[in-house]
Amino acid sequence: MFNALVVEKAEDGSTSASVQRLDDSRLPEGDVTVAVEYSTVNYKDGLCLTTGGGLVRTWPHVPGIDFAGVVETSSDPRYAPGDRVVLTGWRVGEVHWGGYAQKARVRADWLVPLPEGLTTRAAMAVGTAGFTAMLAVMALEDHGLKPGQGPVLVTGAAGGVGSVATAILAHLGYEVAAVTGRPETEPYLRDLGATQIVPRETINETVKRPLEAETWAGCVDAVGGAMLARVLGQMKYGTSVAAVGLAGGAALPATVVPFLLRGVNLLGIDSVMRPYDDRVRAWGRIARDLPMDKLEAMIQPATLGDLPALGPAILKGQVKGRVVVDVN
Ligand code: NDP
Repeated sequence: MFNALVVEKAEDGSTSASVQRLDDSRLPEGDVTVAVEYSTVNYKDGLCLTTGGGLVRTWPHVPGIDFAGVVETSSDPRYAPGDRVVLTGWRVGEVHWGGYAQKARVRADWLVPLPEGLTTRAAMAVGTAGFTAMLAVMALEDHGLKPGQGPVLVTGAAGGVGSVATAILAHLGYEVAAVTGRPETEPYLRDLGATQIVPRETINETVKRPLEAETWAGCVDAVGGAMLARVLGQMKYGTSVAAVGLAGGAALPATVVPFLLRGVNLLGIDSVMRPYDDRVRAWGRIARDLPMDKLEAMIQPATLGDLPALGPAILKGQVKGRVVVDVN
């Protein structure tokens, strides 16, 4: 028997979440069973904990798009009992039962061995948000970003993706300009390494001029919408924006002028279906390039019982940094 946070859907379409005791026979099919130690809360988890957001297909459902833990049993030769593993993406926690439980059963293909130097708790402080932030930084570097070229903009900076992106970029020697709609997070963002705070309201208006002053050497964008459109016109010549999220909207009310006249690149970042080799490379970089003291400063601890309240909170943009859920 194990504890899990189960979301159920009533006949009127409403959902409710509660911690329940489940039998191992309820676990889905898979070749590796993991004793989960920690999970986390991402924006998508907020959807899966509440309405399902079109991501969850069947109820009762155990959400949790990320988990880290120790292999309990494995029928796949790549994993043995005692191995420390991390899982993000692959629609686990959406169409497959996820990490908000003391046990998870998944396909071996979806797991990544935890790199040396990273605890299961630290891995979940990183989670999908931080893993994606690392992928975004790697994409910017692959397109020529180097320290000393000017400030790198991070939007939605006090959120999960933004916090980790800020800490990684600052640690790598970049000047980081952090966009936030929460002025009270300034000390937190400066502590993560931001050297400039950009108030959200100065940058999320609709594009009036397709090109503005060349300001940013790169951008990790968690917000999308009008803000991304505006940022495109503020990029320096030949630089790149890594488009990660849509916290501010899915529409892109932009012009193509920054692409044509400034050679700006818009790089799409997907973490969910990311191939295994990229995952190993990104987790290795996280272990190397994310200072653990900065990661610690981002952590808000939680238990399975806190999740029904945390789901709506992250959807309202009220979660700062990274929630780490101790499922035990
Ligand atoms: P969080 O809620 O932790 O962070 C989002 C941040 O965006 C908020 O903290 C807030 O930052 C800012 N924000 C919220 N609402 C608005 C708004 N209306 N206008 C402008 N800014 C806003 O979420 P995550 O960091 O976990 O995820 C961020 C985004 O990235 C989400 O859209 C998520 O779906 C996406 N994502 C995509 C992935 C991929 O594979 N491509 C993987 C992971 C996440 P502040 O208060 O500082 O302004």
